[in-house]
Amino acid sequence: MRLPLLRVAATLLAAAAACAQAAEPATPEGLVVAAKRAAGQDYAGTFIRICVAPDNLNAGGPRPAPTLATRVVPDRATWYAQPYKVFDNLYFVGTQIHSSWALTTSSGLILIDTLFDYAIEPEIVEGLTKLKLDPRTIKYVLLSHAHGDHDQGTALLQSRYGAKVVMGAADWDSTLKRDSTYPGGVPKRDVAVGAEGTKITLGDTTVTVVPTPGHTPGTLSFIFPVKDGGRTLTVAYSGGTAFNFPRVAENFAIYRDSAKRMGEAAGAAGATVLMTNHTEFDRAWDRARLAQLPRAAGEKHPYETDAATVKRYFEMQGLCAESQRLSMN
Ligand SMILES: [Zn+2]
Repeated sequence: MRLPLLRVAATLLAAAAACAQAAEPATPEGLVVAAKRAAGQDYAGTFIRICVAPDNLNAGGPRPAPTLATRVVPDRATWYAQPYKVFDNLYFVGTQIHSSWALTTSSGLILIDTLFDYAIEPEIVEGLTKLKLDPRTIKYVLLSHAHGDHDQGTALLQSRYGAKVVMGAADWDSTLKRDSTYPGGVPKRDVAVGAEGTKITLGDTTVTVVPTPGHTPGTLSFIFPVKDGGRTLTVAYSGGTAFNFPRVAENFAIYRDSAKRMGEAAGAAGATVLMTNHTEFDRAWDRARLAQLPRAAGEKHPYETDAATVKRYFEMQGLCAESQRLSMN
């Protein structure tokens, strides 16, 4: 009887040791190492922005809201980018720094993010026209979040073309409090997306809107189909990235949970393309230009990866946020 008992004891001890190992508390440093592994070279830009001090510190605190009088319009050569057809049904009309995308459907255009106001005419209005798309057919404007680099073109597209504006409910609240001197003006309240999310369908195309609060309280992320030579791929568009929100532990927990939610949604949808709204995070400007070049037989589209690679983006985001949250305790 002794031997089996010893064996049982040994098994229990081994199980206890394994448990202790699994329960070893995560450290901020350990999470950064795990995030770096998840990022790899695919997402080095985002990793450096949110996981590597001091870029992940909000040293300046909240910035005052810009006005038409105080804003600075940078030299055009530092931001202007040509417009590009990137997929059969997706067109880049962003700058060298910020993305704006036009998704074509059987019933008009869905525009995602609207840049700083100085870029709206040259990039979006003239860009669409150069691409033989008609800005008057913009039916929806989807806003990832209410920060000036992504939303200043919104009021113009709403008032000039009658586009419906889709924004997270909390970001509508902050938008509507803006002074009328806000660059680009203030859009009128339109489609407000709550915590349950929604789907936007235009003609033959549906965009799944996933609320991912964190970067702002109303940040939205999107899942939608694109076609590459007739083959359908699914895009996971991450709507908010930097940690420039009030630095309290709760906000990092909200951000972490949103990364998990979007990672799961992207996985369930079978997304193999990861997009964000700053070109430093997904190399949109590079990829848009690479997409213009001929490809060898069997060569993938420059944006196409695989489900595991897309998943790693959201894992990295969650790990960086959790690292920050832990470092505050
Ligand atoms: Zn932002």
